[in-house]
Amino acid sequence: MNLLIDDHGRQIKKIRVSLTDRCNLRCHYCMPVESTFMDDEHYLKPHEYAEIIKSLCARGLQEVRLTGGEPLMRKSFTAIVEAIAALPLQKIGLTTNGILLDRYLDVLQKNRVDHLNISLDSLDEANFERITHGKHLSRVLANIARAKTMGFQIKVNVVAMKGVNDHELFNFVEWSRAQDIEVRFLELMRIGYAIKNQKSQFISADEMITQLKSRYHLQFITMPHDSTSFNYLTTCGARIGFIASESKAFCGACSRWRLSADGILRACLLKDEGISVAGESKQTLNQIFNEVLNMKPGLRPAEVTHAMNQIGG
Ligand code: SAM
Ligand code: SF4
Repeated sequence: MNLLIDDHGRQIKKIRVSLTDRCNLRCHYCMPVESTFMDDEHYLKPHEYAEIIKSLCARGLQEVRLTGGEPLMRKSFTAIVEAIAALPLQKIGLTTNGILLDRYLDVLQKNRVDHLNISLDSLDEANFERITHGKHLSRVLANIARAKTMGFQIKVNVVAMKGVNDHELFNFVEWSRAQDIEVRFLELMRIGYAIKNQKSQFISADEMITQLKSRYHLQFITMPHDSTSFNYLTTCGARIGFIASESKAFCGACSRWRLSADGILRACLLKDEGISVAGESKQTLNQIFNEVLNMKPGLRPAEVTHAMNQIGG
């Protein structure tokens, strides 16, 4: 097999696939309330996703994570999932804000999308609304509980922000213990719409760990080489992780590419450059894959103006 291994020895095994740039929330670090989105006609069709990913599987791809925007907003979500589930992938995951999850849990289960990353930046109704401009906290919590009962592997993602939700750090740890669900704290990244407040709201993984150590002993858990998070078990029995994209960049072990909803293949979340793979033949796809392989930066780029929901977060 002609594997996708770059000059730094990084093998591409995973891809984050965006199904839409639209969203039913407006998290203040992700997109403005008045956002504009791409026309539906530019979206990749279910069979196009399948063809691109199939060609990547022939080059060693093992995992797909569906994302967006909010992937569950995509009208042909079920058709896309069914097309992808038929491919020789080891793992299929979904990153979602959880609002529409109840409508799709059966579809996900039938099509082996069993790893759910659910974004939840606050456990407090008013703060949830301040951050997301949506009143959906109770629905998200109910959907998480339902997915847990159905046996999905769930991780909850919290973007930690100083003066916004950092006072909820301990609440999240206690919630993780009570629900037996891993909670991962993400550092606020310098990307797109987040750049304007990133400096003032940034809180590092080390700062969070120092706070948590005042109450708990943290036992380090060994993770796979290309894991984006580093994880701990707390004395209270919570499983927590940190995605420190800013303070401890993991570019040296990165095994991921990104495919946007309009078919732009990118080697890195923090690079605007990418190549369109929409409608390309199998042979051209393979040539493009070789080109994209050289586009992955060795060192972490400082910031990118492109919006997270357009690339596929
Ligand atoms: N709508 C889905 C969701 O929110 O889970 C999927 C797309 S969203 C862009 C993917 C993840 O990126 C979410 O966990 C979100 O919180 C995170 N995210 C967005 N902008 C970010 C930023 N500037 N820094 C860190 N994480 C960010
Ligand atoms: Fe929507 Fe996810 Fe962006 Fe929030 S982070 S606005 S849920 S795409």
